[in-house]
Amino acid sequence: MNTDWTKGWRDRAWGELYQDWDVIVIGGGITGAGILRQATQAGLHALLVEGHDFASGTSSRSSKLVHGGLRYLRNAHLKLTLESVREREYLLKQGRGLVNRLGFLYVNLRGDHMPGAIFGLGLSVYDLMARQWTHRAYDSLDMCELCAPLTTSQLLGGYRYFDAQTDDARLVLRLLGEAVASGALALSYTRVERLVRNRGGQVCGVALRDTLGEVERTAEVCAKLVISATGAWADDLREQVGKAPRLRPLRGSHLVIPFKRLPLTRAVTFLHPQDGRPVFALPWEGVTIFGTTDVDHRSVLESDPAISGDEFEYLLHALQHVFPGQELSPEDVTATFSGLRPVVNTGKANPSKESREHVIWDESGLLTVSGGKLTTFRLMARDALKAARQRVGQLQFEQDAPMLDTLPQEVEARLAEVSLPPAHRMRLLGRYGVQSVELVEAGQQADLDLIPGTPYLWAELRHAARAEGVVHLDDLLLRRIRLGIICPNGGLDLLDRVRAIAQAELGWDAARWQAEVAAYAGLWRRSYCFR
Ligand SMILES: Cc1cc2nc3c(=O)[nH]c(=O)nc-3n(C[C@H](O)[C@H](O)[C@H](O)COP(=O)(O)OP(=O)(O)OC[C@H]3O[C@@H](n4cnc5c(N)ncnc54)[C@H](O)[C@@H]3O)c2cc1C
Repeated sequence: MNTDWTKGWRDRAWGELYQDWDVIVIGGGITGAGILRQATQAGLHALLVEGHDFASGTSSRSSKLVHGGLRYLRNAHLKLTLESVREREYLLKQGRGLVNRLGFLYVNLRGDHMPGAIFGLGLSVYDLMARQWTHRAYDSLDMCELCAPLTTSQLLGGYRYFDAQTDDARLVLRLLGEAVASGALALSYTRVERLVRNRGGQVCGVALRDTLGEVERTAEVCAKLVISATGAWADDLREQVGKAPRLRPLRGSHLVIPFKRLPLTRAVTFLHPQDGRPVFALPWEGVTIFGTTDVDHRSVLESDPAISGDEFEYLLHALQHVFPGQELSPEDVTATFSGLRPVVNTGKANPSKESREHVIWDESGLLTVSGGKLTTFRLMARDALKAARQRVGQLQFEQDAPMLDTLPQEVEARLAEVSLPPAHRMRLLGRYGVQSVELVEAGQQADLDLIPGTPYLWAELRHAARAEGVVHLDDLLLRRIRLGIICPNGGLDLLDRVRAIAQAELGWDAARWQAEVAAYAGLWRRSYCFR
């Protein structure tokens, strides 16, 4: 089966849909990607379909933390915190170069809704859960030394501790890519319009539609098991088996500030002065991202939600409060992004109090896996496969099988021959796995230069356009490499060079290029900036 993501891949994939699948996974976010990866490892013949681009849902719009979540500890969700801390440690080992340890400073301010000492107690529990002792208390002078922009007169002191950080979309892509390389089929821009049910009313397949609209294509595909990993959209499919909605989509938004306007080398977290919610300023890919909000998303569940005026003000106010010397204004925010948390609705007045634990519902043969976190994707996949055993039979299922491929030494050795700083090589290995060799060897010498103002190589752009299933320009600029988030003006100023590399790789003519640029610019203005 030819299931790679090089030129012509979607046509080939559509030609391969009619097979005896063990499992069909709906949704190409972190949950679906984790399930596909584990299903393939367990010897199942697996298909994944995604209505838009891979990772285009919440899984490219998170805070990018691989973390236990101190906030969950505060809400007494001990099990979730413990599991998440263990997953963090596991992913730090498995995903070197993709999941990295990150130092945090917790800032204790006069007037905080919670005394700093309580946070210190929480950190002790947090460290004990990871069987390590890394946190430390600091007074206000030390804190200012550790973080120069921290100029608020309200500073009392704080703590240092560690968590971890990733590139969420790249994590999804690596999982999907490795699942595909070991025999799975993953198809984007292919939507499940309807669940197919047998005479007994049990779900036994899906009716698919190609959402690109270039060719009118539909298909009905059957499997022993259908898993919905559709995140905040899960109720749409559950409705088709007669189930009442159970999810409460909560929108979370972030601001992106250039490093020079908020130069942080460590993450800084503090309680929002308005409502006492923890908020995070995170150094990521050369910029500072700040979030998040947690508000009911009351409008239609669109694919590209956007920040509201209230959220923008709420976030900016917090930054101004803690970093007054930076004199941050709305003009300093170069981009925004918003995602929808799939959270189970228990009717709590305060959305932030709703549990972030994952759920598995088996309803008329449709297995829905939702809720949870980016960090816990492996546990979600494992639980989904356990629940699937009855229907797919015996699984070659190793509880601790690595989720990411262990890279042969030869890969590291070949990459070591390329003249790149070690940190860059490690990034490539983490993000692209075995593909990193092809990535650096495919282009010209100039491709090994950095894209100005970013940590990305031009070679990454070429590789993405050539071999990573890019269908639209926003797939390339928002998720394969994140120029749309980290560059001013959504990276539009770089488009001449981007075009010189990507247009030929993608096989687009001039008219298609112009149409893609117009569509990308429109999307970026609607959903990735606030003007
Ligand atoms: C603002 C914010 C910050 C967060 N920060 C963190 C963090 O730092 N760390 C952490 O661990 N977690 C974090 N989370 C949680 C985490 O991001 C989510 O739990 C996770 O990304 C959800 O992944 P998913 O695959 O279940 O859903 P999604 O990523 O939304 O994927 C679902 C996919 O299903 C597709 N789909 C829907 N319907 C259909 C259909 N009918 N046919 C085909 N495809 C369909 C959608 O297009 C979508 O791509 C955060 C969440 C938010 C909102």
